[in-house]
Amino acid sequence: MQSATGNSPATAQESASCAPPAQGEPYLLTPGPLTTAFSTKQAMLRDWGSWDGDFRAMTARLRRSLLDIAGDASDEAGEYDCVPLQGSGSYCVEAMLGSLIPRDGHALVLANGAYGKRIATTLRYLGRAHTVLDKGDYLPPRAAEVERMLDAEPAITHVVAVHCETSSGILNPIEEIAAVTAAKGCKLLIDSMSAFGAVPLDVREIACEAFVSSANKCIEGVPGFGFVIAKKSALHDARGRSHSLALDVHDQWDVMNRTGQWRFTPPTHTVAAFIEALRLHKLEGGQPARLARYANNRDVLVAGMQELGFEPLLNARWRSPIIVTFFSPAHPAFSFEQFYELMKQQGFIIYPGKLTVVESFRIGCIGQVDAQVMRRVVQACASALRTMGVDHAAPPAAAIEERKLLAELA
Ligand SMILES: *Cc1c(COP(=O)(O)O)cnc(C)c1O
Repeated sequence: MQSATGNSPATAQESASCAPPAQGEPYLLTPGPLTTAFSTKQAMLRDWGSWDGDFRAMTARLRRSLLDIAGDASDEAGEYDCVPLQGSGSYCVEAMLGSLIPRDGHALVLANGAYGKRIATTLRYLGRAHTVLDKGDYLPPRAAEVERMLDAEPAITHVVAVHCETSSGILNPIEEIAAVTAAKGCKLLIDSMSAFGAVPLDVREIACEAFVSSANKCIEGVPGFGFVIAKKSALHDARGRSHSLALDVHDQWDVMNRTGQWRFTPPTHTVAAFIEALRLHKLEGGQPARLARYANNRDVLVAGMQELGFEPLLNARWRSPIIVTFFSPAHPAFSFEQFYELMKQQGFIIYPGKLTVVESFRIGCIGQVDAQVMRRVVQACASALRTMGVDHAAPPAAAIEERKLLAELA
């Protein structure tokens, strides 16, 4: 296989290549919605009755498959259950927080980006006491500081962590966070939205009360619902606790277990697409294979971009296989808006950065994309730079200095 950047080795994942999206449809290099398989889109070409036995069987299969990926027994013997819920991922985060944290509970939120901050905002809306450990834009919360905070505030009952903070692409050290949370007798709630399905999250290894993810991230479905995977004991205890009927995880769970149905109109087509996405996930080799493909996507992307002079924000230790943040070039002719348009013209939708201090942009590694696609992304970046008259993509020296400092701090 001819490599566009010359130094990226072809790997086993590339033999199972991803079919391109339909003609004229760009690749979404965004962390959800993302580029889905043709058969996933095709699964939406019929209508389903929400009360019908066929659809109820689909819901049951979806719940079992997700528990399977989470490493639970997915039957009566299992310790966890899966509660799908209508809405985008944030609806499910809010449902999890409002249902599983008692009204007199106290949460420690580990924030290092927009999604951690959103958790704190949600808790404020819910009127739940909370303390925030804010690590800024790109530092991971470490076990030692979590331990210090739990020691300092014995009222804390729950720790809320973001698995992959999609705003920078940092992969937070969830194993050590889970270990220290359990050691201190607190309960862990995880926003694993952009990680679950690709990054390992096995409930037998990571002690958590619950975690949440959604249809349109690493399982590669289309948007429309999310799901809470929680200990059955936690779901029992959540009865009557939620501030909201629509976001009551206990009630959704209870009704679903008794009737096999979603309480209110389910996103039937999204569920059908998700069933197909789950089939493809399994066919590919499950979570380990998906991780391997995404990690390879990231490595090919980063190597190619570095050849053009671009630098990733995070050092390799914390760089997730989900999305990579690059510093914008220091070159005066570079403009993100123009870069975005030039990339779009070549069939790639990229993502603006979410950092507060330095200019950046992000490229997602998830969805139906493989190393061949990532090489074409790099070529498209090179072409966009040429068009703008940017002869080198190196970031401002200050950005590199800051990154060095961060590497030492982390
Ligand atoms: C995508 C995402 C969410 C949910 O976002 P929605 O736009 O509500 O779907 C929450 N947390 C993280 C880390 C995410 O990546």
